[in-house]
Amino acid sequence: MLEWRSQTAIDAAGRIARPVGRALWLGFRCRCPRCGGSGLFRAYLKPVANCRHCDEDLSHQRTDDAPPYFTMVIVGHIIVPIMLAVTMRTELSNLAHLAIWLPLAFAMTLALLQPVKGATIGLQWALYMHGFDGSADPDAAPEYFLPNERL
Ligand SMILES: [Zn+2]
Repeated sequence: MLEWRSQTAIDAAGRIARPVGRALWLGFRCRCPRCGGSGLFRAYLKPVANCRHCDEDLSHQRTDDAPPYFTMVIVGHIIVPIMLAVTMRTELSNLAHLAIWLPLAFAMTLALLQPVKGATIGLQWALYMHGFDGSADPDAAPEYFLPNERL
């Protein structure tokens, strides 16, 4: 046990460091960022409150608008270059472009939204964000809500 503790990495705040890359990957695969043993979602975009395998409390996730934003960036960076390349090499009508790119962008968005949300939850868990830091007050207001003492 002592040897295990000596090999455990500690982050700047004195907590056990959580591997960010592993948590991102497990979250992207829609698995628990701590153990990977159970699913992260109970519905398409509804995360479970606790991991069914390790009982990690996942109710602290606050992904908000980040997953849709990241998904739009990813889909846009894939679709737009391909669309431009096809446009420059073919003589397709606007209706044909619409029939190709709109369903493709829609399908990619639906396919990526859940994994990106899972990765975002994994990142929040790995960085002890929001209530994932057990020592922090989960009901505390964010810093920007605190009064500025200099005023
Ligand atoms: Zn777990």
